[in-house]
Amino acid sequence: MKENIRSLGNITKKLIIRPIGGTEDVNKTLTVYEYGDDIIIVDCGIGFPDIFEMPGVDILIPDFSYLEKNSHKIRGLFLTHGHEDHIGAVPYLLQRIPDIPIYSSGLVQEMLRSKFEEKSFNHLKEQTKLNLFNPTSGEVTLGNFTIKGFRVFHSIPESQGFAIKTPEGLLLHMGEYKIDPKPAMEKPMNLGIIENYGKQGVLCLLSDCLMAISNKPTKSESDLDKTYLGLFKKAEGRQLIVTMISSSISRMHQVINAAVSCGRKVVVSGRSVEHTFSIARKLGYISFPKDIFVPEKEASKLPQENLVYILTGIYGQYSSSLGRLSRNENRDITLKKNAMVIFSGDPAPPGTDITVEKLTDKLILLDAEVIHGGVCDNLHVSGHGARKDMERIAKLVNPKYFIPLGGSITRMRAYRDAMGSIGFSKNNVFECLEGGSVEFSGGIAKKGSRIETQQVYINTKTASKISSVVVDDREKMSDSGIFVVVIPRDRSGRLLPNKSEIVTRGFIYVKDSKELIRKAKKAVVKSISKRGNKTKDWSSLRRRIESDIQRFLYKEVGDSPVIIVHTVGL
Ligand SMILES: [Zn+2]
Repeated sequence: MKENIRSLGNITKKLIIRPIGGTEDVNKTLTVYEYGDDIIIVDCGIGFPDIFEMPGVDILIPDFSYLEKNSHKIRGLFLTHGHEDHIGAVPYLLQRIPDIPIYSSGLVQEMLRSKFEEKSFNHLKEQTKLNLFNPTSGEVTLGNFTIKGFRVFHSIPESQGFAIKTPEGLLLHMGEYKIDPKPAMEKPMNLGIIENYGKQGVLCLLSDCLMAISNKPTKSESDLDKTYLGLFKKAEGRQLIVTMISSSISRMHQVINAAVSCGRKVVVSGRSVEHTFSIARKLGYISFPKDIFVPEKEASKLPQENLVYILTGIYGQYSSSLGRLSRNENRDITLKKNAMVIFSGDPAPPGTDITVEKLTDKLILLDAEVIHGGVCDNLHVSGHGARKDMERIAKLVNPKYFIPLGGSITRMRAYRDAMGSIGFSKNNVFECLEGGSVEFSGGIAKKGSRIETQQVYINTKTASKISSVVVDDREKMSDSGIFVVVIPRDRSGRLLPNKSEIVTRGFIYVKDSKELIRKAKKAVVKSISKRGNKTKDWSSLRRRIESDIQRFLYKEVGDSPVIIVHTVGL
């Protein structure tokens, strides 16, 4: 009996690693580490919606249901770096589970504080415990986990990975990284520290796998310096505008450097780049003399050829500073003829290529010269190492097991193949779908259970969820419009289908479709006569009429708009 109890105890005391996001959609990264009664979380990011399939959705966040159910076990949230797909969902998690202690670098702390300034998250300002935790901090022990940060290089300063000691062994959560021998701002990655962990024996390496599909050598951030200088010289005597990802502190630094060497002053415009700019100045990452910068409101008074504008709008966002400029709706900046507009970012992140092109079209019609990845090399370098970097880290760490993170299914498979090609067993590389897990017991890993996760849609204006039913309706309406049937009811409650009215929007033009409307009214009469025109269970009758009309319309025009059947008393 005693033996049984002990073995039962052993079953519950196993290490479980469960990515809740960041393994199928690239972004909304969140990984749960669980042992007995303790959970620590690494990263909590947002995802970006498919604008065609998810109309009106601003961002996606991870499904927190598992964490809500196990909230009593959560000991802390550790953040690797300040990109939105790693920290953007923190306020939403804290809305549901307050009081989670947060461990992050100073830069990430500032970024979170700036999020807590927003009205919807203001209450989090006082109640959230932000602990400064970076590679120079000591270890932190939380229940069964002891965590230590180590420096990695990525496209945002103060990025770190975590060495996590567990009763099962040492884990290395690398975060996002690349081996850049000549970074623009920070020191290159200290590979010696990673090698040392390898010597201690690592049970599992959790590695970025985004660029596992690339066999090309990893490009250095400093490669961009030459590009900027060349373009800025070409733009002499002209208005000059650069748009970039708002969190790109080192990119911003490079543009300002190039501006200074060409005798131009700098104007920063757009909410998110202004936020990053002020945080980067506060922390000393952008330490140019004050008189280099010109406030947006004063920029129009100065000769335009003496300025460089850094604007939001790299993904073609409608309300961004560049978006407004392209529609002549920017109050403080006017696009001059022959201006040069440089898009210095990822050439086509999924879902944004069409909106970006619409924006570049407008700029070209306004006589601007648009420089983007399609016409100029070296306008962007990825912050993620290519396959060779992943192989090098794997050889240094020499772990028993691997879990690739931060990629799609295709990229996880490319990572697994890469590990196979340098002599590791592919069976020891676990490709986890969202909610899937790997369990470690007695130093042996096996595929664990998978919990169901849902897509969680967010409206950022109200910081609230949008139901999937609403998103489905919006998609259907944007595809095929809406078809409303209004059926009158007499005082005794009897439906009068012969007097029905039909209203449509975005489906057909009623005046041109009288015959279809006539037939549709007939279909309503038929549907009701089949089921009796007096019923107490109106909602089930309404659903049946809706599905009859849906079938009818699909047969007649091959389309399925959103159908609403409504009754009004006479
Ligand atoms: Zn990142």
